[in-house]
Amino acid sequence: MPDDQAGAVSVGELWRRTTNDIGDRAAARWLCEVATGLSGSEFATALDEPVTEAMVAHLDAMLARRSTGEPLQYVLGQWSFRHLDLAIDRRVLIPRPETEEVAGVAIELTAAAVEQRGSAVVADLGTGSGAIGLSVAYESPLGAVEIWLTDRDPDALDVARANLAGLGQRGAGVRLALGSWFDALPDHEVFDVIVANPPYVADGSAEVEPDVVAWEPAGALFAGPDGLDHVRTLAAGVLDRLRPGGWVVIEIGARQGPAVTELLEHHGAVDVAIRRDAAGLDRIALGRRPDIG
Ligand code: GLN
Repeated sequence: MPDDQAGAVSVGELWRRTTNDIGDRAAARWLCEVATGLSGSEFATALDEPVTEAMVAHLDAMLARRSTGEPLQYVLGQWSFRHLDLAIDRRVLIPRPETEEVAGVAIELTAAAVEQRGSAVVADLGTGSGAIGLSVAYESPLGAVEIWLTDRDPDALDVARANLAGLGQRGAGVRLALGSWFDALPDHEVFDVIVANPPYVADGSAEVEPDVVAWEPAGALFAGPDGLDHVRTLAAGVLDRLRPGGWVVIEIGARQGPAVTELLEHHGAVDVAIRRDAAGLDRIALGRRPDIG
């Protein structure tokens, strides 16, 4: 450290102090990465570099927010989801690891459609931050997939739009549309894959973490007395929007598997299945429109 920087602390020292402060070395690193504007290997190689006052001020502001209980992900303003670093804030849900698995299923089914037909049309309904749909765009063959990201909340769609901008060329096939579920989709289009992580928590459920209720958008979480209000809408309308053989993929609550299976089958879906997430909980409902009819 040169003499004229003698008063300054280093990046590594800032990280150490932050760790002491919040008691979580990984979280402290993420906070310091955002505060310094250095990420990953850049951060690792800059540990002896002095930090600026602006960096310290940014970090202090984030720590102040964190100390009120605001979730780390919102304080950071970004969170990783599969291969993407998504901008997130209180307008949208914090992306969850189980939703990465939902996106994975949609990506596989999209790949199968591309394999079969050379291209695919996909919709991520109620996209929020854009996590699922943008992952499909990012992880699908370039130029082969058209993806509709929809949300009824214009604020959420703004977040998705910001995240789309981060995809560059990979985002070329993405369209954004405002509206509730199928209302947002163009009438003429049929889809190979329709995926959604709808609100599915029962109103007033005691199972949701208090921090989730306090900080995350209620409209993205709660869905009537049994949490299935929106899943019912999706199950009732989705087959009409799918190409014959096309798939629907819906994230659901751990105890909703039997009810959602019944709903999808009632509306004519075939090959209905419930897959578990990495925690072993029922999480992903899928089914397809019959090939004929
Ligand atoms: N899994 C979320 C939670 O309980 C709910 C997500 C949702 O309703 N789509 O925190």
